Amino acid sequence: MREQLPLEAKRCSTCTARKPIEDFGIDRSQKDGRSGRCKACRSIAEKTSKQRYRMRHAEQVREANRKWFQENRHKYAIYRKNHAMRHPEASLERQRKTRAKHKAQRDGYTVYQFFDSDGEVIYVGMTCDWLQRQKQHRIKPWFPEVATIALDKYEELAKARASESQLLRQHRPRYCLRLY
Ligand SMILES: [Zn+2]
Repeated sequence: MREQLPLEAKRCSTCTARKPIEDFGIDRSQKDGRSGRCKACRSIAEKTSKQRYRMRHAEQVREANRKWFQENRHKYAIYRKNHAMRHPEASLERQRKTRAKHKAQRDGYTVYQFFDSDGEVIYVGMTCDWLQRQKQHRIKPWFPEVATIALDKYEELAKARASESQLLRQHRPRYCLRLY
């Protein structure tokens, strides 16, 4: 028996309207796999003039940024230090993300599947840090149901993602809150 996931509708964080889940874009960083802002609000936000300029002049903006950082390396180092002192949490989070990215570039990505004792896939996920992710899963209430774990390694993020979504669609694991 499979649980129905309570993901039919959600409230947009920007316009506060309650809308069907399809009106929210996919966002894997969110708990429910969908963006907090509805598609309509996102499209409006994306069309702010500043972003439009940046999109049209991406190359020039990159070049200007690169030049600025080169010429102001010292200034930027001080800024970073001050910022880190003022926002220790954000700074640690940023460090963690950078480390994770570098680690993934070195070690690749792991797609993992948890099976219960009947051999049913109950969870599928993808991570660049399997040891860390494993710790997060071990404290979940359903973890005692896990009987077997399968790991697949990928060098490329795109391939890992493709494999993960294929497995999600195929098995619809009961403890995955993501949409397939
Ligand atoms: Zn909205």
